[in-house]
Parts: sequence; structure tokens; C-alpha cells
Amino acid sequence: MTTAIATYMGLSITFNAMATDNKKFDYVVDRFADIEVLRYKVPDFENLSLNQKLLVYHLTEAALEGRDILWDQNCAVNLYLRPVLERIYTNYKVDRNNADFKAFEKYLKQVWFGNGIHHHYSMDKFTPEFSREFFEQQFMENCKGNSKIFADTDKALCKSFADIIFDPTVYAKRVNQAAGQDLIVTSACNLYGDGVTQAEVEAYYNNLKDTTDLTPISYGLNSRLIKKDGKLIEETYRIGGLYSNAIKAICGHLNQAMQYAENDAQRATIAKLIEYYTTGNLKAFDDYSIMWTEDTASKVDFINGFIESYGDPLGMTGSWESIVNFKNDKASARTEIISSNAQWFEDNSPVDPRFRKDKVKGVSAKVITAAILAGDAYPATPIGINLPNANWIRATHGSKSVTLENITEAYDEASHGNGFNEEFVIDKSTRELMNKYLFITDNLHTDLHECLGHGSGRLLPGVDPDALKAHGSTLEEARADLFALYYLADPKLVELGLLDNPDAYKAEYYKYMLNGLMTQLMRIEPGKDIEEAHMRNRQLIAAWALKHGAKNKVVELVKKGGKTYVKINDYKALRKLFGELLGEIQRIKSEGDYNAGAKLVEEYAVKVDPKLHKEVLDRYSHLTIAPYKGFVNPVYTLVKDKDGNPIDVTVSYDEDYISQMLRYSREYSPLKKF
Ligand code: ZN
Repeated sequence: MTTAIATYMGLSITFNAMATDNKKFDYVVDRFADIEVLRYKVPDFENLSLNQKLLVYHLTEAALEGRDILWDQNCAVNLYLRPVLERIYTNYKVDRNNADFKAFEKYLKQVWFGNGIHHHYSMDKFTPEFSREFFEQQFMENCKGNSKIFADTDKALCKSFADIIFDPTVYAKRVNQAAGQDLIVTSACNLYGDGVTQAEVEAYYNNLKDTTDLTPISYGLNSRLIKKDGKLIEETYRIGGLYSNAIKAICGHLNQAMQYAENDAQRATIAKLIEYYTTGNLKAFDDYSIMWTEDTASKVDFINGFIESYGDPLGMTGSWESIVNFKNDKASARTEIISSNAQWFEDNSPVDPRFRKDKVKGVSAKVITAAILAGDAYPATPIGINLPNANWIRATHGSKSVTLENITEAYDEASHGNGFNEEFVIDKSTRELMNKYLFITDNLHTDLHECLGHGSGRLLPGVDPDALKAHGSTLEEARADLFALYYLADPKLVELGLLDNPDAYKAEYYKYMLNGLMTQLMRIEPGKDIEEAHMRNRQLIAAWALKHGAKNKVVELVKKGGKTYVKINDYKALRKLFGELLGEIQRIKSEGDYNAGAKLVEEYAVKVDPKLHKEVLDRYSHLTIAPYKGFVNPVYTLVKDKDGNPIDVTVSYDEDYISQMLRYSREYSPLKKF
């Protein structure tokens, strides 16, 4: 599970320790549509040993080889359209400043950012601002005859590409979560074949599941479910199966990485991952996940596989992603304090004792420095990750939780002085509190969410982990957020030396309520509902607290000079409300109470007040902040001596967004269609 950056969203926070150090580093790389592209530093890379550098290097290569998999998972047309767009972009000879071309460039930048034709967050298809005539003419000029598939290019092929781009009803939405609709049929993602319905998918997996199995595999995690001759079959992602060429390339680099492993346990873990990729066997993936979870000694670490299931309307199939990283020892002291006190937090949580874990196992937590972001973690990336996702593994072997601090630092640095707080935060004293404490409390929120929140609580025996179905992701994120919010205000954090002021938590509380009630709406188009799980979770919590605290005016929406502000009158009572809601959501999860979960989500998390929404968009439009941010990666170069032996790996930060995307398409396209 991941923590997204929506919480950060351009709040201007000062973090003086870094301000001088980072003066010359240019964090902002590109800006288009609703996107700002940043770059991040990889501090202390040069202090790794040569072996560790080589390990990182080969793991980053393995990470980049998986890019095409995600593009194809996102939508079946993506890998066909990308080379068409890139060919037009590179070959275009006429004035590159004309309006059509500029709009075309913007569209291509959006497609790169979305890893396909849909927005990475809203899941809606991008709307092009260039003309259909422009596209058709450029297609015929630049793509025809360039390869086998285009050798007999005719108008029909051109038209079908143009329909994909211009017809809003074609592949309209990547992941549809609208209640009452067939979520498989109405979603454009490529995780299910043509003609497969939601009822069929649910029946198929229900039939496979053995509810008495205490160590179930993650059904559907690494396959595409299709219909063949009227029967459902799984096309498994593996060598020799679906995505074979990409998985082969990934395994090739994993093999090379293995020779630089830091210890036997890490070497065995990589070997197990290769076995899983070779066989597609989900039991092997569970074995790998356990080995990976238990390897806490290695400095270098990585995620590589089909991991998060937010891209599947039914939350089963994992989107391919990879993040390579190494431990930030200094900052990890913070998360180690949290995880070494895990049992205290579990024992004191405001949930029914029946739903608590008697023994919280192996919650390991560290702060890491990301070295590469890939697949579903690129360009938009989480700032916190807690894996593995399988409930039984978490219960018996614990989980590994990380905070990507060089990424949060880059967000923070890039957001200085953008005017956000001045516009939306109610008064100067709250702004000052946020300036002083938001960076640390935001990081602590992420630590608590990932180290403790997701790992806390337990299911009652016999409860299906997927019982909450389409609402599972939203409720799970709410559970982890509430756990973090509740404990942020606990005197225990001051006692543990994690905060130096018992009021520091108010900075995060204010930001959370402001974001959940108002400012996250800037990411939603007028007239639309909230769909994404993390956003639903935030509104659920904030709107629930607003309503349940209304009688005592715990939190209010007030008007000042015609503008709406969040006003928190009683922070202590707000903490109590967070605790109450945590108790209820934990009950829902522990008992698998689908109806109560659905009711909470539908009542609080989905609908938007159109008037307030319009106001937020208006006020936001006067600021020049991009609602979404993502990153380009640094470039790693293998340095060899005259005999060809590797002697160093260097890192550079000078590649721009367009160059990186075009280079990735050139150098890492194992699933190339033409
Ligand atoms: Zn989470």
C-alpha cells in the first residue's frame, strides 16, 4: 500500500536545514497542463561501496525494463499509440511553434505522464487541444511506410488512431468506480479481456477461493482474465506467458544484480523473484515476499513486480512497478523508534480489543533514499510504501514500511513561496504553526500510516480479506490515516522524542481537514465525483468529522470576506472523533461488514458540494500551482576501466523530461509493437 503525495500539494513549508544546501539545485524541470515535473537528488549515493553502487545500477536497469508492461496494463492501445505520437513529435518539420504542434506536444507530455492515454489520478482520458486534421495529416506523413505495420497504412488505420485520441466515448475511463455499473465492462484498463463482465470475474475468483485456506495466494495478482471460446482463462504474466519479453529483460538485469548482492539472504531473495517471474507461480511470489520482508539487514533494497491493485476496478491485479532505494540511516532513527514501540501503539489504539493484534510482528520501518522510480511509481510517485499487501503475510511475518524522504524533500523545496497557505489557511497563527511543524508532522503522519496503520488490527477468523470489495482500498487507506492522525496528537510522541511540542500535531490536523474538505477538490473537474481511493479516504475522514463534530462546533466551515475557510475550534475533540471513526472502520474491516463500509463511503467520500468546489477552483486558479507533481529520474552511468571492468557508477541530474521519455522509449521497449 502506498501513501500518495496529495497531502503535500504545494503547501509552502520551510525546512531551513536544507534551504542553503539546495540553493543551486534546480528542482523544477517542466510544467504543462495540471502537472509539474520535478527532479530529486540522491544524497549519499557516492558514499555507497562499489558493490552497492553496482547492485543499485543493475536494479535500476531492471526497473526501467518494465515500463512497457505498465503501459499495456493501463490500456491495450497505449503501446500502439506511443510510437505514433513520438514519431510525429520527432519528425515534425514545420514550425514547431505553431498552435497545433504546441498542443500536440502538451498532449504527448500528458500521455507520457499518465503512462498512457488516461490521467494517472482522475483516470479520465486526456482531451487533445490540437485538431483532428493536424493529427491525420501528420500521421499520414510521418508514420506511413516506416515499418511493417504501417507499410500499407490506409485511412482506416489513421482513423482508428484518431478515434482513440479524439472520440471521448472510446476508452473513456481507465478505472471506473461508479456504483451500480459493471466496473469491468466500463473500465478501459487492459486487465480483463473483451466481453468479460464483473459478475463473471467475481464468480471466477470466488470459485477458486478456499475460505478455509489460512495462507491464500493473491488471486489474479499477475494475470489478465480473458474469455476464450466462452470460457474464462488467466493469461499469466511470466516468461513464456504474457509480457514475456519485458519480464525476460527484467530477469536478465536481476541476474546481474545478484552477483553484487550484499549478503546471502538478499541473493536468495532476488533468485526467488526470478523464479516467480519465470513460473508465474503466486506461491513463489508469497515466498519471495516473506524473504523480502525479513531482509532488513541490507542497505540497498528494491520493489520490483506486480504490486498495487489500484489500477484494477476490483482491486485484484497488480500494476507493475519498481523502486530502487537505499537506507537513510540518520533519518531512519525516527521510524525505528516508532516501530520498536509498535506493540504499545497497538495495545492503546481506540478500537475494540477483539480487533487488535495480540502481537504485532516485525513492523520494520526505515527512511529511504529513492534511486530510481519506475512503472506505476513514475513519474508520479508515492512518498510512503508498506508491503507486502497479502494480509496473512503481514499478520505472520510483518511488513516493511518505508518513507521516501529525498522525494518529500524535493516536494518541499519546490513548493516554497507559492502562495497556497496565504490563500487557504485561516489565519497567521495557524500558518506559522504549519511553517514550523508541518514538514515533521507530515513525515510522521506518513511513518505512522505506513509503519503502524496498515499493519494494525486483525480480521476475525473466517472473514474474507476482500469482503469490502470495491470499497476495500478507500477504507483501508482511511484506517491507516486515522491511526496516524489519532497518534500524532498523543503525548507518547513527545515522550519518545519524536516531537518537541505537544501542539505540533495541530499543523497536520489543520492541513488534513483543509485538504479533505476543500483543497483536494482542485483535482476534480467541475461536475465530477471523487473516485480515487486516497482522495475518497481523505474526504470520508474530514467530512465525517465535520458532521459528527457539528453539534459542539469542533470544526466549522466559516466565511471571511466572501471566502470559505476551515476553522478548527477544538483540536482535542477532533482527535476523539478520529479515534471513534477508527474504531468503526476497524470493526468494518475486522468483521467484513460490506454494507456499513459501502454506506460510509457513499455518504461521505464520493459526492462534492458544487458551490464549494467552484470556489476552490476559482481561488486556486489565481495561484500558479500544479495540482499534480511527478519526477524525472537521475541518470546512472557505469564507468569501466580499459579492460572493461566496472570501477564506478556515477549519477547525474541534467536530463530533461522530454529527453528522458524519448530515451526510455528508445532504450527500454521490450514490448515494442513496431
Ligand atoms: Zn496507505
